[in-house]
Amino acid sequence: MKPFGAVSVVHEQKKYKHLNQELRIIPETEHGINNEQVCQHALWVIQRLREAGYDAYLVGGGVRDLLMARNPKDFDIATSAHPEEVKALFARSRLIGRRFRLVHVYFGRYVIEVATFRGHGDGTNGERHVEGGRIVRDNVFGSEEEDALRRDFTINALMYDPQNRTVRDYTGGYRDLRDGILRMIGDPETRYREDPVRMIRAVRFCSSRALTMDATTEQPISKLAHLLRDVSPARLFEEVCKVFLSGFGSNALPLMAQYGLFQELFPYTLEQDAQGDWHGDTVLSQALSNTDLRVAQDKPVTPGFLMAAMLWRPLQQQILALEAEGLTGMDAVSEAIDAVLEEQVRLVAIPRRYTAIAREIWLMQPRFRRMRGKRVLRLLGERRFRAAYDFLLLRALESPELQPVAQWWTEIQEKSPQEQEQQALATAPVNRGARRKRRRRPRRKTNEEA
Ligand code: ATP
Ligand code: MG
Repeated sequence: MKPFGAVSVVHEQKKYKHLNQELRIIPETEHGINNEQVCQHALWVIQRLREAGYDAYLVGGGVRDLLMARNPKDFDIATSAHPEEVKALFARSRLIGRRFRLVHVYFGRYVIEVATFRGHGDGTNGERHVEGGRIVRDNVFGSEEEDALRRDFTINALMYDPQNRTVRDYTGGYRDLRDGILRMIGDPETRYREDPVRMIRAVRFCSSRALTMDATTEQPISKLAHLLRDVSPARLFEEVCKVFLSGFGSNALPLMAQYGLFQELFPYTLEQDAQGDWHGDTVLSQALSNTDLRVAQDKPVTPGFLMAAMLWRPLQQQILALEAEGLTGMDAVSEAIDAVLEEQVRLVAIPRRYTAIAREIWLMQPRFRRMRGKRVLRLLGERRFRAAYDFLLLRALESPELQPVAQWWTEIQEKSPQEQEQQALATAPVNRGARRKRRRRPRRKTNEEA
């Protein structure tokens, strides 16, 4: 392990000055976790590391969720072995990461993440790199205790030892978990400055685990929300998905708005009332409750649909602005879509495959108003029809004039293909259909010639 520089010691003393660090070991009779609840692959990895003479524990969210009687998403391991040493022990494993070097151990498609205990660093030795208070790289190895202290919240710093079945607690996380409190380890402001994403994580854990934020953990967030501007847009997209697509988005939105975090990510989505409170529109809040419901039912959710809802209000405003400049119809719509997405992806890097879904959903909306002729059948056959129709239903909750339209599309879907064709064509005005045909002919010809 590298020696600490003088700067580091002062920094660490300030950072952890509130902590009364003492290891508490909680026996099985008290914590109630048993090894049968733990993934067998993780137990096996820990055993191998132990046999090779290293320390190894289950850490982080997995231990937290077992103690909260929830199904852990993943089982991470922390060890005294260095990444190369871990790699050498497991044939099917890979070194990954730059910001944090880790080893992934593979069991078919299942992955166990093994990280070396991390310690303090002064930000200048090349292994940990700090810029303006922010950690941009952290590969300083340390002791088990240091590894617990560098984690974000006390409830995330618990370690589980499957050999003697104890939980190891350096930060008071066990009590906080029992009391339902989310508490930052060390000085909250310093730790948010090191990594501003911890502010979003704070909201995520409170909204998904029904925890209350400790006052000193909560207090600096509003003041520091602007630090999210310095975080990479790609990382912000990941966090946005975790906070809004994990089944508790409806709880998270008001908290994200209250602390001003949401406004940093999606500056044009919410509206502020005279009292200074922020509100989402019906489309957004309904999209979030639908998402939460789908997650609860184990149905798939896509960031594309959520982004379509998040940006629906800004899109409407942009369309109005362009119409005021003289653009009309689909020209205004498609230019507005480009402008809204271009601006948004600079803040939160929504991958193109998801902006494409949002775009398709939006572009289909005006087409729902045309309920006659072959275009009905074409719309029904679109790949994204179902998502666009679900989106129409959300809009109809906000705009009563859309309700008969939504009802019409609900009913036609329940019919057989023949009945659909009959309904669509029966009402098709002859003249209009003929005009469209005439218009299309020359285009077809050009295609054939080409
Ligand atoms: P989830 O259920 O979403 O996976 P988690 O707590 O496991 O929640 P991960 O992002 O998987 O979250 O991180 C695993 C552990 O790594 C955390 O429990 C925490 O101890 C630590 N950790 C993650 N992100 C940070 C961070 N930004 N700062 C400090 N520690 C972190
Ligand atoms: Mg995790």
